[in-house]
Amino acid sequence: MTRISTDILVSGGGVAGLSAAALFGSAGFRVICVDPAPPVTEETADGADLRTTAFLQPSLKVLREAGLWDRLAPHATELQVMRIVDAGGKTPAPRITRDFNAADVSDLPFGWNLPNWLLRREMVARVAELSNVEFRPGIGTTSVLTRDAEALVTLSDGTRVSARLLVAADGRNSPVREAVGIGARTIRYGQKALAFAVSHPQPHGNVSTEIHRSGGPFTLVPLPDRDGRPCSAIVWMERGPEALRLFAMPEAEFNAEMTARSGAIYGPLTLITRRTIWPIISQIAHRLSARRTALVAETAHVVPPIGAQGLNMSLADLRVLLELCRGAPAHIGEAAMLEMYHRRRYPEIAARVTGIDMLNRVSMQGAPAIRDLRAAGIAALYGLPPVRKTLMRAGLGVRLA
Ligand SMILES: Cc1cc2nc3c(=O)[nH]c(=O)nc-3n(C[C@H](O)[C@H](O)[C@H](O)COP(=O)(O)OP(=O)(O)OC[C@H]3O[C@@H](n4cnc5c(N)ncnc54)[C@H](O)[C@@H]3O)c2cc1C
Repeated sequence: MTRISTDILVSGGGVAGLSAAALFGSAGFRVICVDPAPPVTEETADGADLRTTAFLQPSLKVLREAGLWDRLAPHATELQVMRIVDAGGKTPAPRITRDFNAADVSDLPFGWNLPNWLLRREMVARVAELSNVEFRPGIGTTSVLTRDAEALVTLSDGTRVSARLLVAADGRNSPVREAVGIGARTIRYGQKALAFAVSHPQPHGNVSTEIHRSGGPFTLVPLPDRDGRPCSAIVWMERGPEALRLFAMPEAEFNAEMTARSGAIYGPLTLITRRTIWPIISQIAHRLSARRTALVAETAHVVPPIGAQGLNMSLADLRVLLELCRGAPAHIGEAAMLEMYHRRRYPEIAARVTGIDMLNRVSMQGAPAIRDLRAAGIAALYGLPPVRKTLMRAGLGVRLA
């Protein structure tokens, strides 16, 4: 049996795990990252992740430190305005519209949108540049034994890895979280999200639009033009049976239905990728650390895709963890450091999980009276400039102090 040692073992090579490998590797730590599922790095390949990620301002610093931003920037679409629309009246036409313009609070755009399959491609390429990082696709974590001095991890190829710190980024059903005995609180909504890309005749103008009617938001996020036609990524949340009906619907009918749901704000929408479908839950782990182990990303927290928070929260986890490791490189993975990681991240994660849960419940409402109340709330809240600015900064993850 092969036995190797490393500073950090990252269990999970999704977008969060690969970001962790690039970030800690760029900081000079010896990193091994494993994932039983090799990454799919082409848009048209089977199993490609057709979601996009809107990276918000604070994530930029992390992507730069990981040596990723120069690779990603040429493919990113800037998000300058975030538009909230209520379309909860008798017809799906917009009745209340409020804009948040990044220029009111910052010189930078709100965020930058990138397809997830492309993130994987660039992250794998970045990790390959780092001689102190080893990415082992096709190999998973099979068992974990933690001691005061190390995490001993057995991989599916029989290798035993002794790591000073085990970073669990192996998803919402994390085997590492289970192995170290940390539970999680899960909220199920009976809701699913369709994610796909469309083209449309009218330009998006770098505006990201969230339209509320019932079942959850319908969000259009700008993508680069394709063959001269403006394009957007769409996340369409609905109750489960309705989402499955839309998923299976013939394409022409689907185009008509989503155009109606969008209030035709950009004219007729045309599907240009496959449709993918994702279950929607909220989840928070009871703790973010165990002996020699840190939980990050969806292993620690899952939120519905509202306000582009999920992966941005994950990069915030990594930023804090890296700061602590850099501050005391001789003590990485020790109990005091991991306690500090838990304390610094948990309150903010808990607040965001609660806030997004509330927004999702409000957006799901179908009863006309409640939809009217929601519209009035959007108009009143977002109409007051100081409130709007505070909400914008909070949404961006910018510190309010
Ligand atoms: C429709 C939708 C839209 C979204 N839009 C945004 C957005 O705009 N902005 C944003 O910030 N977030 C967004 N999110 C959230 C974001 O997509 C997720 O946070 C992110 O994809 C989760 O990445 P992850 O690496 O934590 O988990 P995963 O992608 O689930 O990765 C976990 C990995 O662990 C691996 N694994 C499993 N078992 C093992 C094992 N035994 N050993 C090792 N590895 C293992 C799996 O194979 C997998 O690759 C969205 C989510 C959805 C559903």
